[in-house]
Amino acid sequence: MRDDIPRRSASVLDLIGRTPLVEVTRFDVGLCRLFLKLESANPSGSIKDRPARAMIEAAEASGRLKEGGTVVEATAGNTGVGLALVAARKGYRTVLVVPDKMSREKILHARALGAEVVLTRSDVGKGHPDYYQDLAEAIAAKTPGAIYVNQFANPANPGAHEATTGPEILDQLQGDVDAVVVGVGSGGTLTGVGRYMRCASPKTEMVLADPAGSVLAPYVETGAMGQAGSWAVEGIGEDFVPPNCDLSLVKKAYSIADPESFATARELLRLEGVLAGSSSGTLLAAALRYCREQTRPKRVVTFVCDSGAKYLSKVFNDAFLAQEGWLGRKATGTVRDVVVNRFDEGAEIFVRPTETVASAFARMRAADISQLPVIEDGRVVGIVDESDLLDALAAGADAKRVFGQPVGEVMTRELETVSADAPVEELLPLFARNLVPLVMEGGAFLGLATRIDLINYYRVRDR
Ligand code: PMP
Repeated sequence: MRDDIPRRSASVLDLIGRTPLVEVTRFDVGLCRLFLKLESANPSGSIKDRPARAMIEAAEASGRLKEGGTVVEATAGNTGVGLALVAARKGYRTVLVVPDKMSREKILHARALGAEVVLTRSDVGKGHPDYYQDLAEAIAAKTPGAIYVNQFANPANPGAHEATTGPEILDQLQGDVDAVVVGVGSGGTLTGVGRYMRCASPKTEMVLADPAGSVLAPYVETGAMGQAGSWAVEGIGEDFVPPNCDLSLVKKAYSIADPESFATARELLRLEGVLAGSSSGTLLAAALRYCREQTRPKRVVTFVCDSGAKYLSKVFNDAFLAQEGWLGRKATGTVRDVVVNRFDEGAEIFVRPTETVASAFARMRAADISQLPVIEDGRVVGIVDESDLLDALAAGADAKRVFGQPVGEVMTRELETVSADAPVEELLPLFARNLVPLVMEGGAFLGLATRIDLINYYRVRDR
């Protein structure tokens, strides 16, 4: 057998850690060399498998977690998925408290591993009973045999990185590492890797990559604790300094705004072929800035904290970027701004009148939309929406026949149009009449304007 292929493992838990390192070669890194540690290669797809296993095994070793016990945690998603994996393998129940801005993929993943997921608000702070950490602690306190894992203060979290992540990095780079760029969610990676480097490689600087809106980078750079804002990147950034986060280890910090984090993650996939999540975009953006600022060659490491497969519907979805206002379209205050899927950019999802109701419905479901333009020879000839489909089904015919009917037979032919140059307020009376207007630019169809698009328009305009 070839000795570079790992031997078979008795459990998937033995596949946690020993992740690969790959050099970044298609980005401008100035005088430096930049390496990515692919924590996305862990069994549940993130860096959090390491502390998840360590925290559960520490609770077992201390006798707090026994057979039939329950693991409760407040989590942005990845810690929960890691805990759910380890708990499932070991036979424990898992309850996760998750703030509602977190991606669908992570919640589905945790539930599929058998975890119970309690969704809570993401618009309240520490001390509020609905704040995810307070709620998780309360659930653990009233559940017999339960432990509250508390990644924010649990010493086994940084301990896992001190024992494994740090040594692996130094080993993979033959003991020569000038800087490690990390994000902070709980602070486990920063504190664990930072402590290890302080002893094993004192020259190694710890660099913080933080989403703009988080209090951490401003605190490191100015010493002032500001008010937290909000950010879309998941898993990193804080509104407080967690007990596990030793900021004294940080040499330099960068605040990275969401659009740059998302764009960098997309560029990483396009240029290097590495599928990474949004926080990895933040880390890479900060690492690139650090590298380009150096006046002598340095060896720098950062992380792919988790797989981009967890964010296909966000980071790698143009409609999501358009909704956030990150596609570089200029704001004009007109109806044009409300159109998310632009027909002229090839993005509008549509159906032909000769196609079946089943096809129309499949496209609506897949794109999570309630209506489709019906297009023939590049011209809009109708609209089909949920009520058209329901009306056809309610008319009593058997559903199989309705789904086999051509869309042309069930669509609405009366079309309401609105000019792309009209002020957005002109949409309101149309929506009041339950119409879905076609937005026209001159004689050309630009896309549909719907209620949810307008709601989102106001959210983004005034944030
Ligand atoms: N990136 C992602 C995607 C995460 O989920 C987390 C953990 N919340 C981190 C980075 C940061 O790791 P840590 O908790 O060790 O600070």
